[in-house]
Amino acid sequence: AKLQQGLSKTRENIAKGIDNVFSGFSNIDEEFYEELEETLIMGDIGIDATSKIIDRLRKQVKEKHISDPAECKKLLVENIREQMNTADDAYDFEDKKTVIFVIGVNGVGKTTSVGKLAAIYKNKGKKVLIAAADTYRAAATEQLKEWADRAGTPIICGKEGGDPGSVIYDAAFAFKSRDCDILIVDTAGRLHNKKNLMDELSKMNRILDKELGDVCRENFIVLDGTTGQNAIMQAREFGEAADLTGIILTKLDGTAKGGIAVAIVSELNIPVKYIGVGEAIDDLERFDSDQFVDALFS
Ligand code: GDP
Repeated sequence: AKLQQGLSKTRENIAKGIDNVFSGFSNIDEEFYEELEETLIMGDIGIDATSKIIDRLRKQVKEKHISDPAECKKLLVENIREQMNTADDAYDFEDKKTVIFVIGVNGVGKTTSVGKLAAIYKNKGKKVLIAAADTYRAAATEQLKEWADRAGTPIICGKEGGDPGSVIYDAAFAFKSRDCDILIVDTAGRLHNKKNLMDELSKMNRILDKELGDVCRENFIVLDGTTGQNAIMQAREFGEAADLTGIILTKLDGTAKGGIAVAIVSELNIPVKYIGVGEAIDDLERFDSDQFVDALFS
């Protein structure tokens, strides 16, 4: 219900738009396909996913000799569903000791997502620790402390302008001595210097290798759903600096651009792990493509 509510503007945009096309045409002709294509692209589904979805639809309509637009709509929704299913991953790291690096540019919802993630894992009974490795913004650390408080998890902070490596070193020590399960690391959101980010991540990983051995590593990138195609560009750029293992797509509530989730799945080979649907601590949901499509179309 929350998902449905969160996606209401996107639903308004995409599902209504599609309905308009279907009610405006009584025949399935070239103009119909063009209108449909435009509607999907306007809905931020992206050119790549849109062509795949429409191409498949054309084929099905031909093969099955479909002339009823209503039946065509059902196929369209199923094609979108299929397009998104490819992103679902069964793999769950949650049973192993894991370090999650949360990366992304400033303002996308990184700090908020770290807090929400901490609450999710804590509620699953995990011992969670947060590391404030974004030492460049004092405000970020203060904000993260508040989130750690809300989530009821301990947090390791460094000095403003200090070395993120020393925060990681302290965090690794605390992780061991408290026998924690999951360490969530908030990193600095600097994209303008890829080499710098790469160096910083590998330095932190080296410290973790040494202190914690081979605990699992995850690199989650946070993308702001309201930025549309920009989000995809950011993922590509960060992908050059880090091996991204998951996406957190934020701010899907209150935006009509939620179709970007389809584009992300289609264009990036990275699983969408969570979606943000609000500002509160429990407004982060595990991404499930079926639920997502259901929330948009039913
Ligand atoms: P950071 O700079 O990337 O660490 O971003 P913040 O975590 O500080 O978030 C920036 C703003 O986005 C804050 O006002 C958050 O409340 C807001 N925000 C983060 N995630 C969501 C979300 O899923 N939905 C909404 N509506 N707002 C969000």
